[in-house]
Amino acid sequence: MRGDIRYFILSHMKAIELKEKVSLKDYLYTHNFSVKEYKKPFLCKFHEDHNPSAAIYNTNKGDFYICFACGVKGDIFDIVGLVENLPRFKDQYKFLKEMYENRT
Ligand SMILES: [Zn+2]
Repeated sequence: MRGDIRYFILSHMKAIELKEKVSLKDYLYTHNFSVKEYKKPFLCKFHEDHNPSAAIYNTNKGDFYICFACGVKGDIFDIVGLVENLPRFKDQYKFLKEMYENRT
């Protein structure tokens, strides 16, 4: 099935489902980001930030991170990839799936 278009579509659908279940805001909070609420700027940890320049937005496609100073931005997969050093989407998905399953 690997490389098969059906496999790709299925894993994409599961990723969207997962994205709705896991909160990027909660994930960052447990990783010592000073994020408290949506849209409120906090210190970015992807560059040396002295003035809060990052924020989390809650969109209809899930939480979205953006830093206006260093330019890091992305959804929970992108940010988990950076924090956990997982450049491949497959590994980001696996990590988040395990995180979600361990919590419930
Ligand atoms: Zn930054």
